[in-house]
Amino acid sequence: MLQIYNKLTNQKEEFIPINPGKVGMYVCGPTVYDHCHLGHGRGYVSMDIIRKYLEYSGYEVRYIMNYTDVGHLTDNSEDGEDKIQKKAKKEKIDPLEVAAYYIRSCEEDFQALNIKPATFYPRPTKYIDKMIDFTQRLIEKGFAYESEGSVYFSVEKFPAYGQLSGRKTEELSAGARVEVNTAKKNPLDFALWIKARPEHLLKWNSPWSVGYPGWHIECSVMSCDLLGENTFDIHGGGNENAFPHNENEIAQSEALTDQKMANFWVLWNMVNVEGKKMGKSLGNFTTIKDALKKYNPSVIRLWIASSHYRSVMDYSEKSLSQAQKNLEKISKFVNHLEVKLTENNISNENPPAIDFDYYQEKFTEAMADDFNTPLALSLIYDLIGHFNKLETENKLTPLDFKNALSFWNKVNSVFSFDLQMSQERKIPAEIIKLAQAREEARKNKNFREADNLRDKLKEKGYEIEDTDKGFKINKN
Ligand SMILES: [Zn+2]
Repeated sequence: MLQIYNKLTNQKEEFIPINPGKVGMYVCGPTVYDHCHLGHGRGYVSMDIIRKYLEYSGYEVRYIMNYTDVGHLTDNSEDGEDKIQKKAKKEKIDPLEVAAYYIRSCEEDFQALNIKPATFYPRPTKYIDKMIDFTQRLIEKGFAYESEGSVYFSVEKFPAYGQLSGRKTEELSAGARVEVNTAKKNPLDFALWIKARPEHLLKWNSPWSVGYPGWHIECSVMSCDLLGENTFDIHGGGNENAFPHNENEIAQSEALTDQKMANFWVLWNMVNVEGKKMGKSLGNFTTIKDALKKYNPSVIRLWIASSHYRSVMDYSEKSLSQAQKNLEKISKFVNHLEVKLTENNISNENPPAIDFDYYQEKFTEAMADDFNTPLALSLIYDLIGHFNKLETENKLTPLDFKNALSFWNKVNSVFSFDLQMSQERKIPAEIIKLAQAREEARKNKNFREADNLRDKLKEKGYEIEDTDKGFKINKN
């Protein structure tokens, strides 16, 4: 039974999909005005692991992640500047070019990090008509109003406002700073459509003004379009956006459809650098691209999986080099299994010494408890220790090697570590074949041939070591 921590109720709940066997999942994507940093990497890799665990459990996942290419302002009021437009002015290029450039950058990072492509990547600039239509319907239902060419959502019309972030409207009102914006009836109201100032670059016609959509409306419109206007299963995102972004999404969607937007809100936590949140504003961020210059992508994935997605993570050289060591440990183990399985004759059907069903169960148990990846990983390190010990004691049978590898392959369908890349010591099949041919020659007392093959291996950078258990290949 899968338990997921639901931010909406602040507790773990049993996950029951709306449609048996299927999961609809919407994840708030990045605003594409700069390269993604490790804070984003953490979020999207965590969501990828969650998605892959759902697939591992047999669900068909429809996974939507947007790219925000318009409407995300430099601060959360309606007075800020569009982040993409700001960059476009600075670089003296078209805002859409800025977005296209950083979408490509993000795609490269995601691919490098082995993140499975989403089913769809909607973008608000392609949804202007639908956003206008959605806004119009909210006005007709009495949840929104036009004022001075802009359209605002009337927060007091939606009594459930604050349910996700746990903020009460009275408290919010008390804390609200005096808005410069006099067009709003209530300072808590937020923009669905914003009338453009003359210098604004990206703008469209609407029934109210030449303007552009607010940031929050895109996720309501695109999730309704791609997952339907009925409740969907999981809404993912970074917990820093719970308020106001996600809160406003809920208000817009639920006001319009009279249905709960999503059953589960699964929000990841931030990455800290020396006790402070990694982010654009503090300038203390490391881009995914820079991190990839130093670390293998699977090291970064393992570093991310080593923390629970709801815990704050610390970015430090130390934590990444620990991840590197752990990945090497796994790599070495899996490589050893592969080599052994090529060497050994698997027809020996002696019963295995290790109960892999136990490990399989424990893995599922860890992941089914709100995707506890650190626990699942520690189980793998335990298994490696146990396996190595039994191997030294000569207690393993070929089936243990076979089972270990198939267990690993299953587990890795969730983690997606690319061990080929991490294994500098990986021994290619060609080398193993040469070593086996040499062993054969030796057994047949064809020592000249055996020596030739040993020299050949040496040329290729491998040394053969003969032990009483057979040969061992070492890379020079
Ligand atoms: Zn969103």
